[in-house]
Amino acid sequence: MADAIQRLVGLLRQLPSVGEKTAARLVFYILSSPAEYGKALSGAIEDVVERVKPCRICGNLSEHSPCPVCADPKRDETTICVVEKVQDLMAIEASNEYRGVYHVLRGNLSPLDGKGPEQIGVDGLLDRLPGNVRELILATSSSVEGEATALYLKKRIASMNIKISRIASGIPVGGELEYVDRGTLGRALAGRREMQ
Ligand code: ZN
Repeated sequence: MADAIQRLVGLLRQLPSVGEKTAARLVFYILSSPAEYGKALSGAIEDVVERVKPCRICGNLSEHSPCPVCADPKRDETTICVVEKVQDLMAIEASNEYRGVYHVLRGNLSPLDGKGPEQIGVDGLLDRLPGNVRELILATSSSVEGEATALYLKKRIASMNIKISRIASGIPVGGELEYVDRGTLGRALAGRREMQ
């Protein structure tokens, strides 16, 4: 294979769920398409890398900081929904059931992988709480790490007079929010329970 082809195959193979064969198929698809497609694709990747940054308030990824959610005056700033990744925020937004704001952690607590509170950005969340926040919805996944993260946050916030709830019903055990259908996610949010 030509060097340029090999190089692109090698880069695509690093993407999640892309193996050698799929990478080669993608490259030959690009080569068989009009040149504009390949150029638009590379331009779009460059734009994403250069323009998209984390929101300085919530950690959401967008071309603006504050992000469109934080900048929207119609959002309810007294309710913060805590998620473990930006895709979960996007899934909740797509459900159209939520009018509060978010805080995006960098994953869940996982001491064995060296991920403590500092690594996942707990301080950024705690810094926001002395304001007018009344409710924190913990929407980390129902995996062991997601539950541990929710419990940890509950303990840290317990003394702050903020209602803490956890989305639960309808989300499968170990379930990743981003794969849950919109209706189920909407019901899970609406049916959230206060953590005891
Ligand atoms: Zn934001």
